[in-house]
Amino acid sequence: MMRVLVTGAGGFIGHHLTSYLVDRGYWVRGVDIKAPEFEPSRAHEFLTLDLRQHQECLRATRGVAEVYSLAANMGGIGYIGTHRAEIMRDNTLINTHMIEAARLNDVCRYLYTSSACVYPMYRQTDADLEPLREEDAYPADPEDGYGWEKLFAERMCRHYTEDFGLETRVVRFHNVFGPLGTYDGGREKSPAAICRKVALAADGDTIEVWGDGRQTRSYCYVDDCVEGIHRLMRSNHREPLNLGQDRMVTIDELVDLVAAIAGKRIAKRHDLFRPQGVRGRNSNNERLRAVLGWEPVISLEAGLRRTYAWIAGQLLAADAVLATAQGF
Ligand code: NAD
Repeated sequence: MMRVLVTGAGGFIGHHLTSYLVDRGYWVRGVDIKAPEFEPSRAHEFLTLDLRQHQECLRATRGVAEVYSLAANMGGIGYIGTHRAEIMRDNTLINTHMIEAARLNDVCRYLYTSSACVYPMYRQTDADLEPLREEDAYPADPEDGYGWEKLFAERMCRHYTEDFGLETRVVRFHNVFGPLGTYDGGREKSPAAICRKVALAADGDTIEVWGDGRQTRSYCYVDDCVEGIHRLMRSNHREPLNLGQDRMVTIDELVDLVAAIAGKRIAKRHDLFRPQGVRGRNSNNERLRAVLGWEPVISLEAGLRRTYAWIAGQLLAADAVLATAQGF
C-alpha cells in the first residue's frame, strides 16, 4: 500500500480526494487545521496540525511517499479580495514549510494545487476571452494577493525540482464545485452561493447576483477534479497544468441553470457594488488532453443537479434542527 499525505483533507477538495485515494488502495494520512465539516474523513490517519508551523509540516510528511498539497487559506471572490495579507502570510508559510519538509523527509512526489487566479488580469478583461493557456501566466500580473502567492509557490516547485531533484506536479484549478463544499459564511464560491440563494427562495422570488451577471467562468465538478489530480500525480509532467472545464457560461446563465434544476422561476437583482472578479475566465484544455489523454467529462448540469440537491438538503436539515430547538 503506498502511503500518501493529503493536506487540506478537512476541506472541500481534500476531503473528496482522500475518499478517492482510499478507494484506490492507498494508505492516506489526512492533515488539516480542522476536521471535515459535513462527514468524517475516511483517511487511515487524520492529524489536526497547523501547517504554518515547520515542525508540524515535518510531522505531517514523515513516512509518506507522496504529498498532495491542498491546504490553503482561501475562499470565493468576496473573501480573497478582502483578506489579502492573511492569505499571503498563511499560504506562503504553509507552502514554504511543506515543500521543505517534504524534501527533508525524502518524499518522492509533491503535487501542489495552484489556481486560475495566477493568470494575468490583463488577459481577462473581456467576458468573451480566449481560453487561458498555461504559458499565458507570464508576463505575470496575477490576482493581487492570493494569485501572487500561488504563482510564487508554483515557482518554488520548479526550483525544488531543478535544485534538489524533488519530483513536483502543479495543477491549476478552474472553479471546482460539488457537494460537501462551503455554501455559506462568506468563503463560498459562486455555484454554491447561487444554489443556496435559489434553495432559500420561493417560486417567483428575486435573488441578488453579484456584478452585472454577464461576467463569465467555467466550472469543474469535483469528481473530475480529483480524478485529474490523481492522473497528474501519476504522469511525468512537471510543468503547471490547467484542470477545469472549457465550457464558459455567464453568471446569469448559471443562475438560470440552477433555477431550472430547482423548478423555480427566479428573477435577478444585479448588485454592481459587489465584487465580480475578472470579467471573463476559461480554461484551454489542449495541454491537459495531450498530457493526461483525458479531460473532465461531467457536465455542468449534472454537477449542478448533485450540488443543488445536497445544499437544499443541508438547508432543510438545518431548518428542521432549528424548528426542533424552538419547540415547533
Ligand atoms: P478549502 O478551503 O475547502 O480547503 C482548504 C483547507 O486547508 C481547509 O480545510 C483549511 O482548514 C485548510 N487549512 C487552511 N489553513 C491551514 C493550516 N494553517 N494548516 C492546515 N490546514 C489549513 O478549499 P478547497 O476548495 O478544497 O481548495 C483546495 C486547494 O485548491 C487550495 O489550495 C485552493 O487554493 C486550491 N484551489 C481551489 C479552487 C476551487 O475552486 N475550489 C480553485 C483554485 C484553486
